[in-house]
Amino acid sequence: MIILDGKEVNSFWKNKIQNEVLQFVEQGLRPPKLAIIKIGHNPASAIYVKRKIESCQQVGINTIFHNFEEIAQPQLIELIEKLNMAEDVDGILVQLPLPISISENQIIQSISPLKDVDGLHPLNIGLLACGQPRFIPATPLGITYLLDYYKLPLTNKSMVIIGRSNIVGRPLFHIFSAPPYNNTVTLAHSKTPHLNALAQHADILMVAIGKPNFINETFIKPGAIVVDVGINRIQIDGKDKVVGDLDFERVKEFCSAITPVPGGVGLTTIAALLQNTLSAYKNNISNGRC
Ligand code: NAD
Repeated sequence: MIILDGKEVNSFWKNKIQNEVLQFVEQGLRPPKLAIIKIGHNPASAIYVKRKIESCQQVGINTIFHNFEEIAQPQLIELIEKLNMAEDVDGILVQLPLPISISENQIIQSISPLKDVDGLHPLNIGLLACGQPRFIPATPLGITYLLDYYKLPLTNKSMVIIGRSNIVGRPLFHIFSAPPYNNTVTLAHSKTPHLNALAQHADILMVAIGKPNFINETFIKPGAIVVDVGINRIQIDGKDKVVGDLDFERVKEFCSAITPVPGGVGLTTIAALLQNTLSAYKNNISNGRC
């Protein structure tokens, strides 16, 4: 059984991105720039944003950070429109979730699809669904980095994804059912009956439901590749702990490969965000926005 090490894959991608950024800068071009917007006091969001900014700095991507305690939706859209117009801003990321007073859909739709490095704009989701991806949402894209790095058997398999969110489950469905993977994919969710029996047919099982330790060995086909997207904060013996949606200890003996939490998909998500920002930059540069 292989434990898929997100840290190693993250370093591999960060080195690659850093080298590419350096080559542009050595040619006298400006470095890439990512604008990050955070609103409110969600402690998990604060940690994610800090990691994203640090990772950008490590690879030579500049960041502008707009950190609001609160902001009204019209002002937020006004800011995003300014960033859409700014020639030296390549990517825009609005950290989710947003406070309930703000419509996530409207905010996502106000970001220029050409700067939507989170890949959540309906146009980018639509392009992915049509098999012509531009920006793929970072978590699913990072999962391809992780699995491809270990050269696992990923094609023409039976696959089950549990969780149908726009950020994770649905894009995973589009990616892994299309070439080059060509898997036969079932997208399961909270209303799916007989989930254990369904999951037991999966050569590849991906879980993104946000339920700590929910998936145990009764869901696993022996020898399956299992990807845990869940990030759940729980208390064990009075201490805060982060766990996934898998009961890792019970599941690991039955798999051929498994992602740990923490140390798996969370890290490759950041690598994918950096790569999307670099792609947006290259597009900008080739259109003379340098
Ligand atoms: P979401 O709440 O938007 O969607 C959850 C999905 O799980 C829904 O489609 C729901 O139908 C399904 N679901 C819930 N309970 C279920 C059950 N008992 N059986 C079957 N299906 C069930 O969640 P999300 O944004 O996709 O996030 C899911 C998890 O992944 C969370 O723990 C989140 O923190 C984590 N996450 C991690 C990353 C990362 O970078 N690693 C990124 C995004 C989300």
